[in-house]
Amino acid sequence: MKTLVINTGSSSIKFALFQMPRGTELASGLVEQIGEEKGAISLKKDGEKFSEQLQIQNHQVGLALVGSWLMDPKYALIDAPNEVKAVGHRVVHGGEAFQKTTVINSEVKEKIKELFGLAPLHNPPNYEGIEVSEKVFSEAIHVAVFDTAFHQTLPAKAYRYALPNYLYDQYGVRVYGFHGTSHRYVARVSAEHLSINPDKANLITVHLGNGASMTAVKNGKSVDTTLGMTPLTGLVMGSRVGDLDPGVIFYLEEERGYSIEKVKAMLNKQSGMKGLAGDNDLRTITNRAEAGDEQAKLALDIYCYRIKKYIGAYMAVIGPLDGIVFTAGVGENSALVRKLVCEEMSHLGIVIDDVKNEVRNDQIRDINSNKSSVNVLVTPTNEELEIAIQTYQLLK
Ligand code: ADP
Repeated sequence: MKTLVINTGSSSIKFALFQMPRGTELASGLVEQIGEEKGAISLKKDGEKFSEQLQIQNHQVGLALVGSWLMDPKYALIDAPNEVKAVGHRVVHGGEAFQKTTVINSEVKEKIKELFGLAPLHNPPNYEGIEVSEKVFSEAIHVAVFDTAFHQTLPAKAYRYALPNYLYDQYGVRVYGFHGTSHRYVARVSAEHLSINPDKANLITVHLGNGASMTAVKNGKSVDTTLGMTPLTGLVMGSRVGDLDPGVIFYLEEERGYSIEKVKAMLNKQSGMKGLAGDNDLRTITNRAEAGDEQAKLALDIYCYRIKKYIGAYMAVIGPLDGIVFTAGVGENSALVRKLVCEEMSHLGIVIDDVKNEVRNDQIRDINSNKSSVNVLVTPTNEELEIAIQTYQLLK
């Protein structure tokens, strides 16, 4: 069954076509700079990349373009839109309404709309992606896979804030957590790699991309996670602040004359590694740190220290731990970050092997030394594949 995965952002559409149930990726691609003067579409197939620059006025045009590229005889992917039997859509916020992957109908779309307020940057483009795809792939079954769904198993003691109860009761103010598709995927494949039943695995999954989060996985379920009601708290991120005393916001507003809009933009776009080191690309910061740049070194220290603290916290929560799993752009590629996070943790049974840690490839691999009682893994994430798997399993 050919399953298409669509991840629509405000000005981009990521797509991937899978042959299910094998999970073979037939092609993947990206439509970028939608609505700008110059946009682009690219498609990867069998390791070869094809791309073209052209103006893409809106998502409708972008998705029609995805359809026509997939049908282009030169890629030999599909002959007609109706060959795509299922479309799995990434939807960032499912609130409490969506605990699992769901077939999309008009009621589901209404509910996704009601959640716009909880994820104003993400849910509206996700919704538009669904509306447009339903027209382009009108014979397919459309399915929503929510970033928050994996975390719906959090117990109330982990998801409630110590705020007046009515804020939860009336407005749904609570921890929802994000990156759930990635945490779920790497937890499962890491457990399988360790020959542990995924439903019994106790893991800490560390997803370090531009956004970053950690999840405490106990018996295969998410029991705590670092992102909250919005994707702004927890770890230090590319340009997002992570944990912060809310008093700082009042101080800036009341004593320093900052508007709430300015503080919001600062916490989302000018903080994290961008704020600390002037750059949100961990590659550049790592290179600078290795060349002796003190600002970059301090930024990396803060970044890794936060992860280390949460490892301690989650070990206390989970009990006997099977493994720590690093994933996403930074987690998969930065040996330095993994080393700084794991150093001086032998008292907790965590010791990495420096030679194994330096190995670079795109395979799942162990990087712990044989002195370590905790497995430490680098597990490449694949959110698109996980969406395809979830979509297929639901329809099967
Ligand atoms: P997104 O959250 O946008 O999906 P990714 O998971 O692709 O992001 O991660 C992007 C991050 O990965 C960037 O900050 C990038 O600098 C970082 N990254 C990629 N390769 C390396 C590397 N070799 N060393 C350090 N960081 C890296």
